Amino acid sequence: METILYLSATDADGRLGRPSLEAAAAAAALAKSLGGARLLAGLFGASTAPAAAQLGGAGFEKALRVDDAQLAQGRYATDAAAAFELAKAAAATLIIAPSSSRVQRVAAGLAQRLGGVVDTHATELLADGGVVALRRWFYRQRLQAKLSRTQRPWVITVDAGIVLALAGDGSMPTEAVMAALPASRTTVTGLRSPGGGPQTIRPEAALLLVAGAGWCKKQADGALHVAEADQLILAFLDKAKASLGGSKSVVDQQGEGASLTCMSHVNQVGQTGSTPRHAKGLATCCHGEEPHVVGWRFINDRRAVNLNAGCGWAQGKADVLYVADAFQVMKELNAIL
Ligand SMILES: Cc1cc2nc3c(=O)[nH]c(=O)nc-3n(C[C@H](O)[C@H](O)[C@H](O)COP(=O)(O)OP(=O)(O)OC[C@H]3O[C@@H](n4cnc5c(N)ncnc54)[C@H](O)[C@@H]3O)c2cc1C
Repeated sequence: METILYLSATDADGRLGRPSLEAAAAAAALAKSLGGARLLAGLFGASTAPAAAQLGGAGFEKALRVDDAQLAQGRYATDAAAAFELAKAAAATLIIAPSSSRVQRVAAGLAQRLGGVVDTHATELLADGGVVALRRWFYRQRLQAKLSRTQRPWVITVDAGIVLALAGDGSMPTEAVMAALPASRTTVTGLRSPGGGPQTIRPEAALLLVAGAGWCKKQADGALHVAEADQLILAFLDKAKASLGGSKSVVDQQGEGASLTCMSHVNQVGQTGSTPRHAKGLATCCHGEEPHVVGWRFINDRRAVNLNAGCGWAQGKADVLYVADAFQVMKELNAIL
C-alpha cells in the first residue's frame, strides 16, 4: 500500500498559494484513484497552521508540520532538513510536491537523503490499474513520456496549471514534527524587486506581441529609431493588454548599445527561450526563423509584419503576413486602439 505525503513549504502568511493547492489536489486525486492509499500532508514554514486549515476535508489523514522561524526564508539546508524529517515521519513511499522554486531546489537532495528517486515537472499523475505513473514533457515539450518506477520513496514535483486548486473546509488534525535545522550562515536583510518598469510578461493575455531585432536596425532614412520603437511597443502593450515576447537577436542587443528598454532575456521566445500559450500572436520586425518560430507551437492564430515578403513567416509559418513597415503599422494600430 502506498503512503502518499503531499509536501509543501508555506508562503510568508503561512498559507498555500495556488500552485501548492493544485499539487495538493493532484496528490488527493491520486490517493483516491489508488484506493486504500494513506494520504498525509507535510508542511514546513514559519507557521503552517493556516496552510493545514486550507487542506481540511480533502481526504488527508493529518498534517505533519515543521514550524520554525528559520523556515520563513527558503534555504537549501533548512528546507531539505525539514522536508526530510516530514518524509521520514510519514514513512512516505510517494512524496508529491508543487514544482515551486523552493521545492524544486530541495527535491533531488530530499530523494538522495531518503535513498529514493525523483522526477520533476509532472503534468499528470496516474494510477494505471494500481501502478503509479506520471506523464512529463522532455526537450521543451517536443516529447511526452509516461514513466513508472518501482523504487521508493519516489519524490514527484507537479507543474502548475494541470488540475484545479484544492478548496478545503478548514478542519484537519495536525502533528508537530521535530526537525533539527542546521544553523544558517546567511542573514536575509531585506527584499529588493527589479526596477519599477512596466510589467511586460502577461501569461493570461489573449495576445502575444513579438518584437524582433528589426526595431533596433537602421530604417529607410538611414537612422536608428530605438526610442520611438520602445514607445510604440509599450503603448501597444498598454492599450491591447498584450504580453511581450522577443526574438533572440533583439534580447541579445542589450550588450550592443541600441537596445529596447522594454526587453530583457526573460522575454525571449523560441528554442532557447519560452514557449508561450497565448491564443494569438503578432510578430513585428522579426524574421521568423525556425529557432524562433518553434516557440510559437502553441499559438494557433499567427500574424506578422515584415518589410521582407520573403521572410520566414511567409514560408507557411504565419496565417497572415503584412508586408509593411512595422513603425507605421504600430502607429496606426495604437491610434485605432
Ligand atoms: C541553437 C540556436 C538557438 C536559437 N534560439 C532562438 C530562440 O530561442 N529565439 C529566437 O528568437 N531565436 C533563436 N535563435 C536565433 C534565430 O535563428 C534568429 O537568428 C533570430 O530569431 C533572428 O531574430 P530576428 O528575426 O529578430 O532578427 P533578424 O533576423 O535580424 O530579422 C529582423 C527582421 O526585421 C525586419 N525589419 C526591419 N525593419 C523593419 C520594419 N521597419 N518593419 C518591418 N520589418 C522590419 C527585417 O526585414 C528582418 O526580417 C537561435 C539560433 C540558434 C542557432
